Amino acid sequence: MPHSTSPSPALSEVYDVAVIGGGINGVGIAADASGRGLSVFLCEKDDLASHTSSASSKLIHGGLRYLEHHEFRLVREALAEREVLLAKAPHIVKPMRFVLPHRPHLRPAWMIRAGLFLYDHLGKREKLPGSRSVRFGADSALKPEITRGFEYSDCWVDDARLVVLNAMAAREKGAHIHTRTRCVNARRIKGLWHVHLEREDGTLFSVHAKALVNAAGPWVAKFIRDDLKLDSPYGIRLIQGSHLIVPRLYDGEQAHILQNEDQRIVFTIPYMDRFTIIGTTDREYTGNPNKVDITDAEADYILKVVNAHFKKQLSREDVVHSYSGVRPLCNDESDNPSAITRDYTLSLTGSAEEAPMLSVFGGKLTTYRKLAESAMAQLRPFFSQMRDSWTAKATLPGGESMTTPQALASELQAKAPWLPQAIAARWAITYGARSWRLLEGAQGLSDLGQAIGGGLYTREVDYLCDQEWATTAEDILWRRTKLGLFTTEAEQAELAAYLGKRATSRHSTEAA
Ligand SMILES: Cc1cc2nc3c(=O)[nH]c(=O)nc-3n(C[C@H](O)[C@H](O)[C@H](O)COP(=O)(O)OP(=O)(O)OC[C@H]3O[C@@H](n4cnc5c(N)ncnc54)[C@H](O)[C@@H]3O)c2cc1C
Repeated sequence: MPHSTSPSPALSEVYDVAVIGGGINGVGIAADASGRGLSVFLCEKDDLASHTSSASSKLIHGGLRYLEHHEFRLVREALAEREVLLAKAPHIVKPMRFVLPHRPHLRPAWMIRAGLFLYDHLGKREKLPGSRSVRFGADSALKPEITRGFEYSDCWVDDARLVVLNAMAAREKGAHIHTRTRCVNARRIKGLWHVHLEREDGTLFSVHAKALVNAAGPWVAKFIRDDLKLDSPYGIRLIQGSHLIVPRLYDGEQAHILQNEDQRIVFTIPYMDRFTIIGTTDREYTGNPNKVDITDAEADYILKVVNAHFKKQLSREDVVHSYSGVRPLCNDESDNPSAITRDYTLSLTGSAEEAPMLSVFGGKLTTYRKLAESAMAQLRPFFSQMRDSWTAKATLPGGESMTTPQALASELQAKAPWLPQAIAARWAITYGARSWRLLEGAQGLSDLGQAIGGGLYTREVDYLCDQEWATTAEDILWRRTKLGLFTTEAEQAELAAYLGKRATSRHSTEAA
């Protein structure tokens, strides 16, 4: 059975780095720093990836559209990261072809060809095929008047799992990760940060650290102003983006990038075999980033764009799920939310005497690893023992000794012929080589525990709680797995009841 971990390891006297925020940027920095020999503490006020980092379009992409805004540095870096991340996590990252239907009144063909030429050549690309022109026949899912287009490559990623796997990588290098733990304030005292924390149950504790990393995403500036009582070096613009999930809109594994009259683009992305994700939007957001809901106008906008391109017409009734998040973008004073830079800015304040603070403004999932390397470069002067960069060649947990998820699923079934194909395939794209741990000692389906629904058994639930910091049904159904789309309300309630029982028995064991 899964190896159990201590939920709260003993705290160190003084950490080298305390990281605030368990989104992709916080965990990426925590993993990089701990692998370079620094002692790391990370706190996340909710669940890992519970905010922006699970609400993305889930693309590891250069960002074809950013070329129009002359973001060449960002695009070059992001393009090169596609194959780096593909090799680091072949279970949760996969290549994807993107079809761009040509609509001459929006962008002329020469302009798209020039953009794709740059896209093919700006960043390193060895495995991903280049772009080409395509023609659509009568069997195309697109409307008959759309006859020509282009095709190019990017990658897809399970965004929430990218976060969890980086947190696991950090823990495996010695980092202490505390979820459901909010940093309420932090003060510089005699060259150290005194970081004050509050757990979900209201208990308080503090840690000391030589450096503070503020990776609070949408809260980055508010945290500096309200909790640290300091001036924020940059402002942040919160730009809402929403997605709809509908039953599979067309056959094939290709995504589409649809151009709209307002110059924006909308993606259609095949999802979990049975669905298509459609999004996104760009809308200035002034509400509470803790709970971001799609608006009716956003849903209508997305449906309108997709209906302008596809033969199959969608309405609100087709939507099986939707999600929404806010991009924490560094404020560059742009008027148009789509044009605000998607690049990141790191700000370092404080000297060795007064303890440094590094704050992260902006960024993309795609560039999290490079962002973490830049963060380490900025912190290097404070830590003479810091080792060199290492993350480019290291696999994330589960990516080790793996070829493809399909091959792994076959190996799992060869070892355990009783394991249903759907479970083997899902485990392969969720846990990669760590799937073997879920099979340890199991001789038949009954050894996987109680069936919850959608192919989820309590052994997997226990693994997620013990190894991946899951505590609620939502953590499991929507972030660690995507089984929220494949389970009934009754099954979801059964999962919640099991987790409740599990927590009670753990508390009584601890109290005994
Ligand atoms: C609609 C949309 C589509 C996107 N699509 C893509 C895409 O396809 N590809 C791509 O590369 N990027 C994409 N992005 C961008 C990407 O998702 C974000 O850049 C990235 O997730 C930001 O990560 P983060 O760690 O900075 O923020 P977050 O994920 O929000 O993490 C910050 C964390 O800090 C925690 N926190 C805040 N304050 C405290 C505190 N006081 N104590 C403890 N914890 C605290 C929060 O709870 C939160 O979990 C998209 C973004 C959006 C919104």
